[in-house]
Parts: sequence; C-alpha cells; structure tokens
Amino acid sequence: MKVKLILPALTEAESPFWRPIKYSLFPPLGLATLAAFLEEEDEIDLQDQHVETLDLTDKPDLVVIQVYITNAYRAYRIADHYRAKGSYVILGGLHVTSLPEEAAPHADSIFIGPGEETFPMFLKDFRAKSPKKRYFSPVRTLSKLPAIRRDLIKRNRYLVPNSIVVTRGCPHHCDFCYKDAFFEGGKSFYVQLVDDALAEIDRLPGRHLYFLDDHLLGNTRFASELFEGMKGLNRVFQGAATIDSILRGNLIEKAAEAGLRSLFVGFETFSPQNLRQSNKKQNLKKDYEEAVNRLHALGIMINGSFVFGLDDDDTDVFKRTVEWGVENAITTSTYHVLTPYPGTRLYQDMEKQGRITTRNWDLYDTRHVVYKTAKLTPEQLKEGYDWAYREFYSWRNIVRASIRHDAPKHMLKHFLYAGGWKKFEPLWNFLIKSRNLNNMLPLLEAILSRVSGKKEKELENQPASRPILTLDRSEG
Ligand code: SF4
Repeated sequence: MKVKLILPALTEAESPFWRPIKYSLFPPLGLATLAAFLEEEDEIDLQDQHVETLDLTDKPDLVVIQVYITNAYRAYRIADHYRAKGSYVILGGLHVTSLPEEAAPHADSIFIGPGEETFPMFLKDFRAKSPKKRYFSPVRTLSKLPAIRRDLIKRNRYLVPNSIVVTRGCPHHCDFCYKDAFFEGGKSFYVQLVDDALAEIDRLPGRHLYFLDDHLLGNTRFASELFEGMKGLNRVFQGAATIDSILRGNLIEKAAEAGLRSLFVGFETFSPQNLRQSNKKQNLKKDYEEAVNRLHALGIMINGSFVFGLDDDDTDVFKRTVEWGVENAITTSTYHVLTPYPGTRLYQDMEKQGRITTRNWDLYDTRHVVYKTAKLTPEQLKEGYDWAYREFYSWRNIVRASIRHDAPKHMLKHFLYAGGWKKFEPLWNFLIKSRNLNNMLPLLEAILSRVSGKKEKELENQPASRPILTLDRSEG
C-alpha cells in the first residue's frame, strides 16, 4: 500500500514576517509516530511542507494529513485534491478535534483526539475495506507503542531533529489552551513507561534532545525516574515546565543533573486577575522571580512565554513585561496575542459574550487580534506586541540581560543564544537553503553546555555526602 503523510505549511510560514528557521526546528514527530503502525511492506512518503515543496502529482492509496488551525484551509485543499484523484484521505490533529464538522466534508475519515489507539484500529478497518467515517478513542495509553519511524525524517533539514515526546497533555487546565479540547472524553495527562522513554532516548544520535512535552515535570514520579535514568548519559536537553513545578521539591535539580540546560516557562501574565480569567491557577501567588533565580542558580537558560491582551492588560503591559524579562535575564521571550482557539473555554466564553470578531482561522496565529479587547484597542494590542519583540531583542537589551548573570559563561551563553536566534537571519536562511542546518547542532550543544551556577558552587563546597548534584565539571 502507498501511504503519504503530510504536514501542510502553516499560513504564517508564507507571511512577509516569516522566519524560515522558526519552522525548520522540529520534524513532524506525530506523523512519524503514526507511520510506526504501518506494515514493513507499505511504501511510505512523509512530507513536511515547511522544509520541502510538496509533490502533489502522485496517487497514494492513503493520505494522512495533520491539521492545525493556521494550516486548515491549505490542508482541506490538499485533501480535496487527493480525494478527487481517488486516494483515501484522513484528517486529524488539533483543529479537526476542535471542529470536526468543518473538517469532515474534506475527508473520508476524521480522527478526534490522539491517534495512537485509533490509527491502528483504522488501518485494520481500512485493510478490511470497512473504514468508519470517524474515529474517537477514550482509551489513552502510551504503553507498547512501536518505535517512531525516525528513518522517514529528513534530519538534515531540521535544526533539532532529536525532538522527543514522552508524555501527552498536561495536568493543568488553562482556559486559552487547546489541551482540554484535544483530550476531552479521556485522560488528559498520561506518560510513557520510563524504560520506553529511555529506550527512545537511546535511539537518538548525538547529545542534544528537545522534549516537546507540554509539561515535562508534570508527573513528579515519572520525571524523577526519567532524570535518574538519564544521569551519566552525557545528554543536554531542553523542555517546558510550569512555575509551580520549578518551585516544588527538588525535581528541577534532578533535571539539571540529567542535562536540562534551557526551559520554556509559561509566565503568561503578572496580573492575578488575568491569571484567574485564564484559570491559570498554578501561577497564582507564585513568586516568578524565585523560580527564575532557582533556574539561573542551576545554570538553566529560560525561554519565557507571555500573553498580551487579557482583560486586565492596559497600555503599560508591554513595557512592564519586556523590562521584567530583561531585568530577570530571561534568555528568549515568546510573546503571544491572546488567541481564543475554537474548542477552548476561552473561545466559548468569548463567543457567548459576542467578542469573536473573525473566524478566518489563518489569523489565529497569536500575532493578530481576533476578538474584542477590553482595556486596549486592537491597534494598541498589535502595536504593543510588535514593539515588545523589537525591544526585547534589541542588541541593547540582549546585552543588558546577558550581563545580569553571575557566571561569565552564563553571560556568554545567553548572549550567543539570544543573539544567534534572532539576529542572524541571513545565516539561518543560507543554512536552510544549503541543507546544512543540522550541521549547527554541535554549536547548539556547545552553547547548552553546563554552567557552574550559584547553587552548584554552594553544593560543591558542602560535604561529599550530599546526595544531589554530583555534577560532571568537565563541560563547565
Ligand atoms: S500549563 Fe500549559 S500546557 Fe498545561 S494547560 Fe496550561 S497552557 Fe496548557
């Protein structure tokens, strides 16, 4: 059987502000995970439109398309094209799960929620010539998953080919997040067996890993055992976690010891009223600066996520947020215009209040204002968002933030990471065009090497019997 798996490009990937590097970071892991359920004799072609031109001249027996909100229209056009040719087309992903009725006319079958259970069920039905129109699985487990078909990934086209996901979902319930809508009807947070996760890590070449899990520290026991198993593997890794998990217990120290060097943290807003509006309870009454200091003391760089446009935001929010990020030496910031994705509680609330101003999904890219704002005008919000990016990544602020670290090595890493990420676009474009992106990995690994943070130095001076942070100093 000929099978084609397609990730259509997000609409913003064609905008004049498109940064090719931003869309050449991670391979389509979800599709490679589904491919693992196909038979050895199946002929599989996995195409990611972010890094290659789609070949639409073929006629596969089965076409699998992953749909996000801003590639939805493109995904539907591709689906219609292949159906007209006689291929069997299935659609799945976040947007299909949010709006199944919209997606269904473009597909022979649609998938709602995660596909690890339903895709093998579909394949059985398809081979028996009796596929269903809709697949939904309330069963959620990651045990006995076949090994991801990483051989289908064109590694040299990605900066971070070693992306990995060892959990699904998140234990929290923020109103603006897709998570609850995607996992509705079953467990919304579950983890792999630690041994399976370690086996997957073992299959990945080189040192660098990027955990794409929504919340790598979400299950303390799992994360603790995972980090224990990773100790001594000489890996460096990046991931995401919440403020409360950074402040609780000593999990973050274990992560650092296992090789965590940079963390994506959802600060989102400093306003308690905004946090309540978003049901982001895990951030309420948490000391953001304490979390930042704890990470810095461990030599972990921070990618802070911030949302603009919540109802308590006024015109000062942009300056306050940028200044806080610089003052607290946040390495990189990701700013978002609040976006009410369909299927989320935020969308339902805004719809009830008549605040949704457009349903053009191409604009739901967290850069456009698609709802009626409260204290800010849509223009102020958009301008403030653009200003925040320009200001935070000005050379002046990159230098100011870098020199706030204690260790010279941390200063240099901060400077190279933030500057390299935002200031060398022509170089990134050249590397992408010449298919050499993957050759930058050793440099990334060097930048992510260990820093002797304050906390590590304190621990070095304590008696040898201290149980944690027996760190390999060779990288420092
Ligand atoms: S903590 Fe992050 S992943 Fe979890 S529900 Fe909130 S926004 Fe979503």
